[in-house]
Amino acid sequence: QSQDEGRNRVVEFTYSDLRRAQADQLLAGHIPTALQGEEFYVAYQPQLNLETQDVVGFEALARWDHPEHGTVSPGRFIPLCENSGYINALTLNLLEQICNDLPDIWERYGDIKVSMNLSPFSLLDREFIQAFIDTATAICDVKGKVSLEVVENLSIDGYESAAKNLAALREAGFDIILDDFGTGYSSLSYIRRLGASVVKIDREFVMNLNQSNHDDLAIIRSVVSLGKQFGFDVIAEGVEYANQAAILLEEGVTIGQGYLFSKPLKIDHFL
Ligand code: C2E
Ligand code: MG
Ligand code: MG
Ligand code: MG
Repeated sequence: QSQDEGRNRVVEFTYSDLRRAQADQLLAGHIPTALQGEEFYVAYQPQLNLETQDVVGFEALARWDHPEHGTVSPGRFIPLCENSGYINALTLNLLEQICNDLPDIWERYGDIKVSMNLSPFSLLDREFIQAFIDTATAICDVKGKVSLEVVENLSIDGYESAAKNLAALREAGFDIILDDFGTGYSSLSYIRRLGASVVKIDREFVMNLNQSNHDDLAIIRSVVSLGKQFGFDVIAEGVEYANQAAILLEEGVTIGQGYLFSKPLKIDHFL
């Protein structure tokens, strides 16, 4: 071993990296079994009209409670599912759960919209998209009621096929939401080509929102203005404080989602 401090640090980092990779591999090995059982479930987070405080929609988010490893965050298990080829199976599993829950949700909240997240991996897979549409139309009445959240940082080479698949999804009655807007290579042409009818401003721009934060205010203002001109709705995510909600409303953002209103909740609690 070298006495050089820098090198020692590198060795240490590599070691914990390896441990992490081993733990990931172990966890990934549990995914097929987890998909058979009920370890994966959906948590629902409401979206509110910032003016009236009415619940106008909600987002379905994946959760994994592993019997031994405990709760695994989506930030960890979604990439594991993507890299081990199980993301499509997970998405269909969640779709079935959501369709199952929808009648109760509509009974409680009226005919509101649900959105679910679609991985870029799934979005590039023509066969999966067809299976998704078939499953959804068989078990849900999706027309105008289910939206799909997609992220903007799709790779350039996947762009054409993603755009085609999104067109097929829109044709089947799904609305498209551009998620985490502002964190990737956003552009107006992107929103239009993907056919998004809703743009979700990333939490990053909501987090430090106050009257003297002119950069984030300017970004929000311009998204709202583009939305008005080009006909898409704007949702703000990660709303944690009342003053953020007030500023958003002042800037013309009408829908908000975040801990201020509710954390994502299991179906029973959500109802
Ligand atoms: P996302 O789609 O942008 O979802 C919003 C995330 O922000 C969720 O984290 C939500 O719990 C969190 N959040 C909501 N309000 C607040 C707030 O006020 N403050 C803070 N600090 N956080 C808030 P979560 O559930 O951990 O999900 C993380 C990401 O994992 C999601 O980001 C999405 O990209 C991905 N994900 C979750 N479920 C699915 C899924 O079913 N399929 C796919 N492909 N991705 C999913
Ligand atoms: Mg989302
Ligand atoms: Mg988001
Ligand atoms: Mg986000």
